[in-house]
Amino acid sequence: EESQETHEFQAETGRLMDILINSLYTQKEIFLRELISNAADALDKIRFLSVKNPEILGEKTELAIRIEINTEEKTVSVTDSGIGMTKNDLISNLGTIAKSGTTQFIEAIKGGNVNLIGQFGVGFYSCFLAGQKVTVASKNGDDDDQYIWESQAAHSFAVSKDPRGNTLGRGTQVTIHLKQDAVEFAEESTIRELIKKYSEFINFPIYLKVTREVSKQVEEEGEQQDQQENNDDDEVKVKDDDDDADTKKKATKTIKEKVSEWVQVNENKAIWLRPKEEISDDDYKKFYKVLSKNSGEDPFNWVHFKAEGEVEFTSLIYIPKRAPSDMFDNYYGKQTTNLKLYVRRVLISEEFEDILPRYLSFVKGVIDSDELPLNVNRETLQQLKMLKVISRKIVKKILELFQDSASYDDEDEEETEEGEEDDNMAETTPEEQQRLKDEKRKKKIDEYNEFWKEYGKNIKLGVIEDSSNRQKLAELTSMMTTLIWIINRFISIYQMIYINSRLIQLISKLSSSIYQILLYLIYYFRWYSSKNSTDLTSFDDYIERAKPGQDSIYYLAGENKEQLLASPIIQGLIKKGYEVLLLDDPVDEFTFQHLNEYKQKKLVNVGKGDFKQPEDNDEQRKKLKALKKVFQPLTDWWRKLLSENVDSVVISQRLIEDPIIVVSSESGYSANMERISKAQAY
Ligand code: ADP
Ligand code: MG
Repeated sequence: EESQETHEFQAETGRLMDILINSLYTQKEIFLRELISNAADALDKIRFLSVKNPEILGEKTELAIRIEINTEEKTVSVTDSGIGMTKNDLISNLGTIAKSGTTQFIEAIKGGNVNLIGQFGVGFYSCFLAGQKVTVASKNGDDDDQYIWESQAAHSFAVSKDPRGNTLGRGTQVTIHLKQDAVEFAEESTIRELIKKYSEFINFPIYLKVTREVSKQVEEEGEQQDQQENNDDDEVKVKDDDDDADTKKKATKTIKEKVSEWVQVNENKAIWLRPKEEISDDDYKKFYKVLSKNSGEDPFNWVHFKAEGEVEFTSLIYIPKRAPSDMFDNYYGKQTTNLKLYVRRVLISEEFEDILPRYLSFVKGVIDSDELPLNVNRETLQQLKMLKVISRKIVKKILELFQDSASYDDEDEEETEEGEEDDNMAETTPEEQQRLKDEKRKKKIDEYNEFWKEYGKNIKLGVIEDSSNRQKLAELTSMMTTLIWIINRFISIYQMIYINSRLIQLISKLSSSIYQILLYLIYYFRWYSSKNSTDLTSFDDYIERAKPGQDSIYYLAGENKEQLLASPIIQGLIKKGYEVLLLDDPVDEFTFQHLNEYKQKKLVNVGKGDFKQPEDNDEQRKKLKALKKVFQPLTDWWRKLLSENVDSVVISQRLIEDPIIVVSSESGYSANMERISKAQAY
């Protein structure tokens, strides 16, 4: 007989548990969703393996989660027929924290956001929020024995061979021995509500063992009847027709009996396979919580569609409200996505790689196709032509979703709930109606601006990125180096135009396709501007506010909007009533240079050269000419003096308060670009 082994928790695990127990106790209930989520993961794993090897399921073909409560013992147990854990698995999976960044997580969780727990791969430990003792029995499918892991959270856990033998067949049973202040979790209604709240869309049936009292009619002999009568007076009914001698001793009584049965609590059918009309916004949000490992927040937006034609598949894709904080840490490194790939309801891959371009890696969702081969491995998956089609279609849908979120046409509003709106409208004045409309519009704009703050950079990168260069880009390690690389690449292309005229055709082809993408994406772009440096603005808004006859869109690029707003370069323009876009993201200037114009308005970088000031009439021009002449000796002298460093020294009209300014020449790098390249060079 094997004896019990005691193990110490990894130091970080111990610290984490202390925090959980001492500061997050108000959020006990999440333990159930974490256990269910682990059970579902384990079931996904065995289902995946069973595709290639159906025998692996053995006699235990049912893939389900069963939850049982023991009111007397005050326990809750969650049992799955998933992949199970060997003795070693129990020790390493439930004794150490696999994911790095745990210290960071511990800091974050101290702030009280317990929802992070599922994302950091430490969900299991939430058991100790509600349990004073946790017992895990697990049986891996191999010839292995069933083992028990047990801990009372006191920095150690014990592992032993299960004395009951192999009771599970395959799978895991986690039993929580509830603390005094958590006994409400030994109630059926509490557990049922929690499953509904957090785990409705888990893709395996979740059964809850419910106990009901049933009334039962029993016919019994008089003798026994008397006995029963003493025990349970009210329950006994003597038949009315007991005058009859034959039936005198017979009576029917109703007794209450406890019966237990398994009841499925969750919906189980994959939400993405249900018709859209049947799914409420609330359902979509609930599923998002399951999908995003309960990030706690509603999604920003989502799109659910079925693609037909070349390849048939169904997809449900969400844009999270917040971008992951590490999105650009290793942008050109290993690509991960948050897209789950299902083939005929079997989860093939959690992080379906290469299906989306990098700049869209922040979306979360599922793709389900019946047409992909079930027994694909991840390597051959990448080579399938079908994937290219799927990818193209999904990207298109996502871009449409962005576009929907960005547009605030009045038409949108008229489409919605017409009947209802008519009724309301009848009672409101036109002013009131307008006010409501404005409010709605403002709300949509605000929401989109939030989106832009989170993902603006991604979209700009989308503009620049060229999928055929993905490999080369991958060799570069950071986004900034890549940017500079791209910038240089473009610059060298332009230089080549002069060197080799035969290249021109090729280049113009390339630039026109870039231009096409730019035009498409520019619709989503937002910047700060000199008119309003707290809210973001679009090109269209800028044009709406432009002065009559203004044929340019002015912009200045730099490090941050405060610095830009204070720049002497733009004071003249501002004084004249012109608006200047303040580009504070390194990507912007590059993008603008390639765009050149928008809706027939030239994009003018006011940080370069001595651009022609708007409203220069003949008189002003004459005045300037005269001034230039007067100051010619000075400018000539100065130019000579600085000949190594400057192209020219000129009299300028753009300054208001400041006497002098250094600007870049029209054809060279702007100061901002220079700054970016310098930062990258070493
Ligand atoms: P995560 O689920 O994010 O990996 P958890 O702390 O929830 O983190 O679980 C830790 C690990 O324990 C899991 O990755 C898995 O290997 C193992 N585990 C937990 N519950 C089960 C289960 N029911 N069946 C099989 N393995 C499990
Ligand atoms: Mg988990």
